[in-house]
Amino acid sequence: MKHDIFSLKGKVALVTGGNRGIGKVVAEYMADAGADIAIMDLDDASAVAAAIAAEYGVRATARVCDVTRREDVRAAMASIAGELGTLDILFNNAGIVMHKPALELEPGEWEKVLGVNLNGVFYVAAEFASRLVSEGKGGSIVNTASMSGSIVNIPQQQASYNTSKAAVIHLTKSLAVEWADKGIRVNCISPGYIATELISFVSPELLETWRGMIPFKRLGRPEELAGAVIYLASGASPYTSGCDIVIDGCFTVV
Ligand code: NDP
Repeated sequence: MKHDIFSLKGKVALVTGGNRGIGKVVAEYMADAGADIAIMDLDDASAVAAAIAAEYGVRATARVCDVTRREDVRAAMASIAGELGTLDILFNNAGIVMHKPALELEPGEWEKVLGVNLNGVFYVAAEFASRLVSEGKGGSIVNTASMSGSIVNIPQQQASYNTSKAAVIHLTKSLAVEWADKGIRVNCISPGYIATELISFVSPELLETWRGMIPFKRLGRPEELAGAVIYLASGASPYTSGCDIVIDGCFTVV
């Protein structure tokens, strides 16, 4: 390519929830595009980081970190920046789901979903942006929202998840405007149903119902999100901020 606008060479990308699922696969594709990778996850993602480093010839590291604990987020980021030199890109992706009618939620369940999916996303974004500002540099944030932030899924009931993801979309737009003059772009992706461990608890009958509702007649694959994340993270999208890319096999179109 004459204009290598999708290259992430020389950039350090932080991926939350990168021990498995979408985060792991997108981290691999970002490494393939040249980025050094840092993973923050509840679980130890050292093996994933080592495999990425070996496969793509980049630097990769991992920290155990609960994104709902802001002090831990700050410390993990400082430790990563100490090892890899700096941070440039954030794929702010860790999240959880709960299928449960609103009237049956136990105490703390609403708070748990909002705690990870909204507070966690904000804490990581804010600590990341704060680091960039203190280093006097710009960067790019890609949050993982969901089509559930724009529509209400059926037949399962999941008000906590839908609400958290709607909030992520508006948080994305709000931070994009707030940080525009700091050179920090903030965008999000809204995946449809993607085949990962996140939905491994779903019954074969419900999966079949979903397939019937998706115009593509299949679930998406994590790698089908990588192009959008790399586009938003890279120099291919310098004038794009506050944008939500929906990747859902046409689910929300009909
Ligand atoms: P997975 O459950 O496969 O992976 C999520 C990862 O995030 C896991 O490694 C998990 O760790 C980690 N994680 C969970 N909570 C925390 C936390 N508090 N701090 C740090 N890490 C945490 O999910 P997906 O890859 O499918 O989902 C990734 C993102 O994509 C989520 O935000 C999800 O809401 C979103 N999404 C997923 C869709 C899908 O159909 N799969 C559709 C639309 C959006 P552990 O294994 O210990 O739980």
